[in-house]
This record gives sequence, C-alpha cells and structure tokens, in this order.
Amino acid sequence: MELYNSLSRKREALPAAPAHISMYSCGVTVYDKCHIGHARSLYTFDSLVRYMRYRGYYVRFVRNVTDVDDKIIAKARQSGKSFDEVVRENMELYYKDMADLGLRPADVEPRATENIPLMIDHIAGLLAKGHAYVSEGDVYFRVRSFPGYGKLSGQSIDKMLEGVRIDKDEKKEDPLDFALWKKAKPGEPFWSSPWSDGRPGWHIECSCMSIKHLGTETLDIHAGGRDLIFPHHENEIAQAEALTGKPFARLWVHHGLLTINGQKMAKSLGNFITVQEALKSHSVNSLKLFFLSTHYASSIDYTADKLGDMEKGIARFQGFVNRAQQVAEDKLGVRLDEVEFLLEAKEKIIGALDSDFNTALALGHLFDLLTAVNRFMDAGKQDDYFEGSIRQTEKFLRELLEGVLGLTLDLPHAAGLSVEEDALLGERVEARQAKNWKRSDEIRDILKARGIIVEDGKTGQTWRRV
Ligand SMILES: [Zn+2]
Repeated sequence: MELYNSLSRKREALPAAPAHISMYSCGVTVYDKCHIGHARSLYTFDSLVRYMRYRGYYVRFVRNVTDVDDKIIAKARQSGKSFDEVVRENMELYYKDMADLGLRPADVEPRATENIPLMIDHIAGLLAKGHAYVSEGDVYFRVRSFPGYGKLSGQSIDKMLEGVRIDKDEKKEDPLDFALWKKAKPGEPFWSSPWSDGRPGWHIECSCMSIKHLGTETLDIHAGGRDLIFPHHENEIAQAEALTGKPFARLWVHHGLLTINGQKMAKSLGNFITVQEALKSHSVNSLKLFFLSTHYASSIDYTADKLGDMEKGIARFQGFVNRAQQVAEDKLGVRLDEVEFLLEAKEKIIGALDSDFNTALALGHLFDLLTAVNRFMDAGKQDDYFEGSIRQTEKFLRELLEGVLGLTLDLPHAAGLSVEEDALLGERVEARQAKNWKRSDEIRDILKARGIIVEDGKTGQTWRRV
C-alpha cells in the first residue's frame, strides 16, 4: 500500500502487511460546533485507519482533543460562559457528531489538559538544549536554532519572514519564534510551571501526546488537514526533532480542504454548515459518499445539489444488496475464487485503494461491478454459479462499504418492522412498479392505521412511525 508523503513530496510504500503502524491525527479544538470540513477530516482518517486494518495492518490510532486554547478563552469571554462550560458543551457536541456520523473513536483520544506535566517536561528539555528561551513568563521556540525548519512546507526561513505578519512583539527574539508556553492574563485558566502560571501553546500538545500515546519518537504516519502544514505541523516537527534528534514522522498525510459553493467556509460569509445542519437535509450515507467521490488530498466543493445526487449512488448499493438477499444463502457455496469477474473487480478496487487511498477511482470500479452483476440478474440466470456470485458480490460490498467505509447498506425498512409490515411495504413497491395505484393506496392506508406513515420520494418509498 502506498500513501503520498507531503514531506518527501512523493508516494511511499508502507511496510508489507502484517505490520504495526502508529498514526496520529490532529483533532478538533472544542470552542464551537463541528462543521462539515471537520466531518471530512474525521471521516477520511477513520476510513483510512479501517482500510489499513482491512489490509492486515495493526494500526494504533491516536487523535487528540484540544481543550485549552486562545479560541476557547475568547469564546468564553464573548459568551459570558466559563472556560470549563465552553469546553464541556463543545466536547459533548463533538462526541454527538461523531456518533451521528457513525465514526469510531480513536484508540486513544488524549485531551491537552490531561497532559500538561508532559508538555512542561518537553519544554524544559528544549530550554536545556538552547532551542527555547524564557521571556517575561512566556517560553518561545527559537526557530533559527533548528536547521530543518521549513522542510515540510518547503519554505526557507527568509521567505517565511517576508510572509509573516510582524507584530512588533518585544518579547520575541525573532518574529518567527512561536510560543511553547503562555503566561496567563488575569481571569484566564492556568497551570503552574517553572516559568509562570500559564498554559501550553497549541503546537506543543501534539508533539507530546503523539509521542507518549504511540510509544515512539518516530511516528509512522502523522495526519491532518492541508491548512495545518504551516505553521502547525512545521512547528510540531521542530519541537519534537530538536529534543529527540530523531525524525518525528515518516509519512505526513494531508487531506484537502472543503469549500461551499466555491467559497471558503466562514461565519462572516453566512455559509458555515455544521454537521448537525448537514444531517438535517442529507443522510450520513450521502455525506460519506460525497467525501469518498473525491480523492482525499484534493479540495472538495460542497453544494446541496451534489449531496442530493449522492442519494442515487446509495440507492444503487442498497437496491443491489436488497435484491441479492432474495437469493438463497446456501448459494454462498460457490467460492469466491470461482467467480472470475468478481476477483477481477476486487483486484481493481483494492488496487485503487492501495494506491494512495483513491476512493474515487475505487467507487468507479464498484459501480462497474454492480452494472455487470445487475445485467446478468436481469437476464434471469438461475444456476448456482450465478446465484453464488451474487451473494459473494454482496459479501464483498458489505466488507468494503460497511466494514471499511462506514456506509449503511440495509434499506431503512429492514429494521423496526414486523415481518408482515415489511412484506406489505415490499408489496407496495411492486404495486407501484406495476402502476397498481389502488393497491398501493390500500397498503398505505393499512400501514397508516398501524401508525406507519409511508411517503414517496425521489429515491423510492420511505416510512416512519408516528
Ligand atoms: Zn496537531
């Protein structure tokens, strides 16, 4: 399996599976609701981790939660809530979003505030080596003391200086230096340290928590959004490598950013879409399929129309699974290696995913596979070989789309209904296909009397209980 490494600027192979992979991803800062850009980030790495496991890797995955930061302090001040309240509320919302999106927790989800002593030790180590200095209770990293600074973002220090906004900050030796520790102002949350009562800078927490919880000074994979490359990831590398003298991460994997109708998402533009707002008008399935339909490293543009189109793709998967289930289970007796077209398709799909996790290409091959299988199902072949291959295709689809990519393939009416009600819904679909509106309406009324409302939409009938 290969992934594109932002550091070497080329694709690199992972060690041959089975192998252990340590992976860290920068998580959210809990000062506000998560938006759909966060959803893309969380989902991308959730599915990449699941895929690596599917391919035989033992992945240890750590994703942090930033629960102390200038943004949280600012939010508390604006809203009149306490710092702790802002953190607690937004942590709850974050975990609700994760659950509603059907994303799995990481193996460890450390919170910055639980690891302050670790960060103090790390900062003390950098001070002892001359990579940091204390200035009026703050501690800064001395960027020019680390020769590799700029290697991830591909910028020279002098070039960066041109781009950086120079606040005439008297406390710093150099405008590029960044804070490792910030002295608290009155009313701000603080922890005691040898330099001042204060809090850690944002960058230091990732360096410390990744090394601690992955149990290594050189991570196999460090992941995050492209917008974090500079300065966040550049600073993480500098802090970690200046202390340990070892490469901080072998592979840097960055996902592309998300725009809304061609514009950057921003509260000021009124186009800020939270996860919960997106889920009011679109299913989790269609949101996920939307993310999968573009390569993770590319930018992606969100429009309501595109999301709506995704329902058609989902309906194709669900329709196929529903149809395949009508073929008897015992036909699974046909072995996978006997089904040549499926083996070929599987090779292409896995090949695409192994090649820098190209989900867009893999989806194309998957739809081709469905077209082929549907064609011979339509032809009405009844022998064991064909029926077996239908069930084998369904099995593969479930492994990949449900097990790895987190989609739901069972039709919404499969759960929560009695056998009889389920059969009535099935009969109604057939009645409508035969344009037997009378029977279709009769069934709707029978179900209504039982407290089940049936509605017809673009993607077929849906039901809900009243
Ligand atoms: Zn980070």
